[in-house]
Amino acid sequence: MFEVVIGLEVHVQLNTKTKLFCSCATSFNHKQNTNTCPTCLALPGALPVLNQEVLQKATMLGTALGATVNRTSYFDRKSYFYPDSPTAYQITQFYTPVIQNGSLDIDFEDGTKKTIRVGFAHIEADAGKNIHEGDISKVDLNRAGTPLLEIVTEPDMRSSQEAVLYLKKLHSIIRYLDIGDANMQEGSFRVDVNVSIRPKGDEKLYTRVEIKNINSFKFIEKAIEVEVRRQSEAWEDGIYDEEIVQETRLFDQVKVETRSMRGKEEAADYRYFPEPDLLKAVITDEMFEKYSQIPELPDAKKERFIKEFGLSVYNADVITANIEMAHFFEDMMAEGISGKNAATWLTVELQSRLKGDVNLANTPVDAKKLGTLVKRIEDQIVSGKAAKEVLDYLMENEAEVDGVIDKLGLKQVTDMGAIEAICDEIITANPEKVEQLKGGKDKLFGFFVGQVMKASKGSANPQAVNEILKAKLG
Ligand code: ADP
Ligand code: MG
Ligand code: ZN
Repeated sequence: MFEVVIGLEVHVQLNTKTKLFCSCATSFNHKQNTNTCPTCLALPGALPVLNQEVLQKATMLGTALGATVNRTSYFDRKSYFYPDSPTAYQITQFYTPVIQNGSLDIDFEDGTKKTIRVGFAHIEADAGKNIHEGDISKVDLNRAGTPLLEIVTEPDMRSSQEAVLYLKKLHSIIRYLDIGDANMQEGSFRVDVNVSIRPKGDEKLYTRVEIKNINSFKFIEKAIEVEVRRQSEAWEDGIYDEEIVQETRLFDQVKVETRSMRGKEEAADYRYFPEPDLLKAVITDEMFEKYSQIPELPDAKKERFIKEFGLSVYNADVITANIEMAHFFEDMMAEGISGKNAATWLTVELQSRLKGDVNLANTPVDAKKLGTLVKRIEDQIVSGKAAKEVLDYLMENEAEVDGVIDKLGLKQVTDMGAIEAICDEIITANPEKVEQLKGGKDKLFGFFVGQVMKASKGSANPQAVNEILKAKLG
């Protein structure tokens, strides 16, 4: 039997206003090569100057991961030539990274946790982009020099599931800290997966394969599974040593297989050496004091939602996984409603109505409206069923909750006299059923409730209907 060993490297693009070493804007949707200057074009004589905002974002992440934030870190040159890198080297942090020895907990469905060690995270500059159009390839340097944090784990994960749990947690933390967009499709959260196998019980690490740039959690899970299969089959067939070599592979989403891309470079190939054009990066006490102030993180928020609002572990997990949803929930709670109801109306009713481009950020029914609607249910002004109609209406029309309840005539009747009158009517109209019910056919009680609700066009308070019918029919 084999054990799977996985280590992850994630490149997070930081959402600073300007680039890492120059004052060019970090937005790449502009016309090609317009956000550039002599520094990020690597023209002779132009010198890099460190953007302090990057140290702030790095410190925030280090604090969130419970890591050591090195108050002095250094930059190094990693030499390689690519057409989209005008310097022919990348400025990175090889010898002394800004963040060391952090960790992050992943949560399993059964409530257990596992700690994944984050060995280090370092600051580095992104490359530009090659654009291939038929026979022509162009280079766009708008992205060149954008700040990245590369976050590297120890080989602590033992399954594709653990890898994805780690990545989702890290993703969520980045969004909570608001240090990056972390958009996988747009490449602001890029994952490299290192995978090896070993016989169970063996402590040593075997040859690893690196799978690069897979752009969804689902495909990462798949890529790990097929790569593990490839490695274990090679082992079983006695060709492990020939087949499994340290290399970079690509995941083919269509054929669902990994394919060799290039041999994996060793550190020596990069000829790392200290960057001579930059000063050391220093985080003073004063800076640290300020930069290490971070907002409440997903784990803490989850615990608090469970304690303070009585959420189930499952709901707390779902709601806090995503900062937008967590804030939406908190805003709903400001309407003074129960946590359980807020969670249901948010994660079930509203979520199921969000389609296509409509999401929590631009939903026509904001947290205040949804919270108000839940409040009206709790105050027995509308039934749960009627509230769904109100919600449907609000998804399509710009309107206020109470206005819609009136307009659609959905106000619940809690006037006991009025409900009693309807109950009497229905009882008189169905003498046979009343006999049968009294004779022991208990199921018929539901029939009477249904008839009264129908006669009231759904507006009667079901609880009141139940009480009155029970009193009348025994
Ligand atoms: P490099 O600098 O060449 O990228 P590192 O030693 O920094 O290599 O490791 C990169 C990543 O690979 C880390 O996340 C590490 O945990 C992981 N890793 C290293 N050895 C193995 C292995 N045998 N199996 C799986 N992952 C590994
Ligand atoms: Mg690496
Ligand atoms: Zn520039």
